[in-house]
Amino acid sequence: MTENYDVIIIGTGAGGGTLAHALADSGKKILVLERGDYLPRELDNWDAKSVFVDGKYISKDMWFDRDGKSFQPQVHYFVGGATKLYGAALYRLRPRDFGELTHADGISPAWPLSYDDFEPWYSKAEQLYQVHGNGGEDPTEGHRSEPYPWPAVSHEPRLQQIYEDMAKAGNHPFHAPCGILLDEADRPDSTCIRCATCDGYPCLVHAKSDAEVIGIRPILSKPNVTLLRNAEVTKLETDSSGRTVTGVVVSRDGNREVYQADIVAVCAGAANSAKLLLNSASDHHPNGLANGSDQVGRNYMFHNSRTIAALSEEENPTRFQKTLGLNDFYFGTQDYQYPMGNIQMVGKSNAEAMRGEEPHLTWFAPEFGLNEVAKHSVDWWLSTEDLPVAENRVTTDKDGNVHLTYSHTNLDELDHLYREFEKLLNHIGMAQHHVLHKNYYCHMDIPLGGCAHQAGTCRFGTDPTTSVLDTNCRAHEVDNLYVVDTSFFPSIGAVNPGLTAMANALRVGDHITTRLA
Ligand SMILES: Cc1cc2nc3c(=O)[nH]c(=O)nc-3n(C[C@H](O)[C@H](O)[C@H](O)COP(=O)(O)OP(=O)(O)OC[C@H]3O[C@@H](n4cnc5c(N)ncnc54)[C@H](O)[C@@H]3O)c2cc1C
Ligand code: SF4
Repeated sequence: MTENYDVIIIGTGAGGGTLAHALADSGKKILVLERGDYLPRELDNWDAKSVFVDGKYISKDMWFDRDGKSFQPQVHYFVGGATKLYGAALYRLRPRDFGELTHADGISPAWPLSYDDFEPWYSKAEQLYQVHGNGGEDPTEGHRSEPYPWPAVSHEPRLQQIYEDMAKAGNHPFHAPCGILLDEADRPDSTCIRCATCDGYPCLVHAKSDAEVIGIRPILSKPNVTLLRNAEVTKLETDSSGRTVTGVVVSRDGNREVYQADIVAVCAGAANSAKLLLNSASDHHPNGLANGSDQVGRNYMFHNSRTIAALSEEENPTRFQKTLGLNDFYFGTQDYQYPMGNIQMVGKSNAEAMRGEEPHLTWFAPEFGLNEVAKHSVDWWLSTEDLPVAENRVTTDKDGNVHLTYSHTNLDELDHLYREFEKLLNHIGMAQHHVLHKNYYCHMDIPLGGCAHQAGTCRFGTDPTTSVLDTNCRAHEVDNLYVVDTSFFPSIGAVNPGLTAMANALRVGDHITTRLA
């Protein structure tokens, strides 16, 4: 039997969860389909071994690389999607990220819309996700029509010292934008307890501004909203013209179910949205649904990233470390003309997390050694833009499995950022305090399986021959089909993608509301 809705939303992450929230007050009948379940609330949420070594919350999915070799991607299928595990650093892209930028390995293309077009939606997304920050500190940021809704999360003493040392050395560190439900002025009543197990962990007390807590839970009591969990969408069917999706095929409890809606929004995450469209090929869409341009699945991006544990003699007892950022090298320097990217903090190391993050390096390390390293480490995340390259792509095989072909771009930029970072550490007095030899930094590149920042497989644009979606994120070739997650990014910038996905979902939600009125 086919059930009819006004809107079907597939996926509940930063894109889908936010879109559902945006549409809930319209009174329209909305069906939200999520392949995962609620992430269980249990002590393991905050247990480093369960999270990082056992990978308890990573999907059992297997994908395949260019050689057909299987690997387990770090994807998370829960109500809330990847945001259940994310670090909640909610950055806006820089205004110049929306324009064309010349990089070491080529061009980062201009978006069809500008920062000014996105700005009001960034503000709304920051309000909704209760972002904490301090506008005006970062010279690369764009103008804002509204201040952050919450004051910046304070630095703990070791980070405050680093912040001041950086500023003294002539840098422009800033308070990182954080989506956590922390009220520092009223700690007894604060939902967030400011713990050390945030970035990469689920939040046991539901105090992270994730898409379940902020997007989905508050709308579940509405009579016009239905959420089906453990409901994996396997195919989209169209009418005889191929211009309208008429059937959303779902696998649930071992059964095949079909749902119908005036509007269908695919928000399954960049790889899985491409997978769904490619697996929905038909006579009208022989290369995959909405894929006349042959762009579906192409231009997959996920950032060139490096995590670094910099060691100093003094201990670093910081609990919530993700409070500081630096964009001084974002667009290059006098000595290096190409953009280098963003420097920010990651969650505080502990021995188990390090073991899980880099098993090859640490498997034989004695626990004591890792504990000491973790106790003294200050943990950084360096992130450089990777380019949209047509050959970096998601394809599917005859069984519908994801194959991911990816070659890095702009590694020279990441190397230059790393060199600037090393100089920075020397300037802020960390090098001379190293417990190991001077200039020893443990650094770990993020492997292909770490696809946390995946984006770009259905880019939006004005030309149907080079893009999948129009500027409202509607498929050029299918009148009632939208893709509303990080798939739409024409380029990825060098800051975390979550807030841009949320802002865009609010923007598209406004468009869909108008369309349905
Ligand atoms: C460990 C980690 C840390 C991160 N830290 C940050 C950070 O600090 N700041 C930041 O901005 N970003 C961060 N990110 C990235 C951020 O979480 C993602 O960019 C964002 O969640 C992407 O949103 P999305 O809607 O595209 O996909 P997702 O959030 O992944 O949502 C996709 C949803 O679709 C569901 N789904 C998939 N296929 C189907 C199907 N066939 N049928 C039904 N449902 C389906 C999935 O289960 C999931 O719920 C982090 C990610 C990870 C994993
Ligand atoms: S720091 Fe706050 S939001 Fe993050 S996991 Fe801890 S309690 Fe949750």
